[in-house]
Amino acid sequence: MLTDRMLYLPRADGGRLLTTRPPDHLTASRDHPTTMTYFIGVDVGGTHLRAARFAGQTHTPEAKAKSPTLAAKGREMVLQRLERVIRDVCPEDLSQVAGIGLAIPGPVNPQTGILLTAANIPGWDNVPLKQIMEERLGRPVFPGNDANLAALGEWKFGAGRGHNDVLYLTISTGIGGGVISGGQMLLGAQGLGAELGHSLAVPDGPLCGCGQRGHLEAVASGTAIGRLAQARLRAGDGADSKIWELASGEVEHVTGAVVGEAALVGDVFATRLITEAGLFLGRTLASLLCIFNPSIVIMGGGVSMLGEVLFNPVREAVKRHAMSEAFWRDCPIVPAALGDDAGLVGAGALAMEQVRR
Ligand SMILES: [Zn+2]
Repeated sequence: MLTDRMLYLPRADGGRLLTTRPPDHLTASRDHPTTMTYFIGVDVGGTHLRAARFAGQTHTPEAKAKSPTLAAKGREMVLQRLERVIRDVCPEDLSQVAGIGLAIPGPVNPQTGILLTAANIPGWDNVPLKQIMEERLGRPVFPGNDANLAALGEWKFGAGRGHNDVLYLTISTGIGGGVISGGQMLLGAQGLGAELGHSLAVPDGPLCGCGQRGHLEAVASGTAIGRLAQARLRAGDGADSKIWELASGEVEHVTGAVVGEAALVGDVFATRLITEAGLFLGRTLASLLCIFNPSIVIMGGGVSMLGEVLFNPVREAVKRHAMSEAFWRDCPIVPAALGDDAGLVGAGALAMEQVRR
């Protein structure tokens, strides 16, 4: 089982287990059990940094703060903003903060605390973020991939509560994922696992945000839906679609969100686009169900807010393509419960997982 000094979830198979310990002065104070312990969760976005303070093992923030990332002003500026937004939600006595989780929009090696790259934050390649922030704040800091942490948050406090095997997909401008298998978060050898959005959907298909072609993200994300809609409208399809009105007649204004809005009021052209995205998601899920055999699939992110217009084709494709009914019969596909706070709550949950009192 997890002990208070382990830095990541143990693996039942005896595989890689993080046992790196924070320096003694960075561990939670066990000498003062009556003192309130706080956890800080931070959502590091390309536009905004958001931080929340949680009192003990809870998911309702006691305090929240938000700051522009100012990503264009360089790495040092972003680090300063990050430190500021964290201090804004910390109690006066920093020693009461048991741990700080950071949800990063990119691949992070949780074993080293080094992030490889962060989407929309230039100059953040190979940054030893854990070390930098621990030196600045003097408290234990735990960076993790934002989609992985959203999965952790949904598992601990959201739609996945009570399950041991959870598959999580977040569908917004990109597609991220997280996998809880046998009650443990799947990390992989370098902590880079569960990038479900970058599984191959269409060989040599549209360009993906990662630079490769034909990944799920390139055909089913909000960005992909908007791009496909524009291409079809330019080709003369959807001439009577409500999308034109919503986009003020400008094809450049057609985004995934506009397509979603039109689909929700029954626009046929828009509904077809969302259905196609849903079918891609469902086909990929059919494969993932066979690999991970989850007891629940959770879909979050802006595109998932479309509800049944997206979920119906997802479920249809799962049923059509899964190896056997056994994989989906008792595995509901449900919307996420934490909404915009999934990253914040997940980052807080990571800190709670890492620092067990
Ligand atoms: Zn990709």
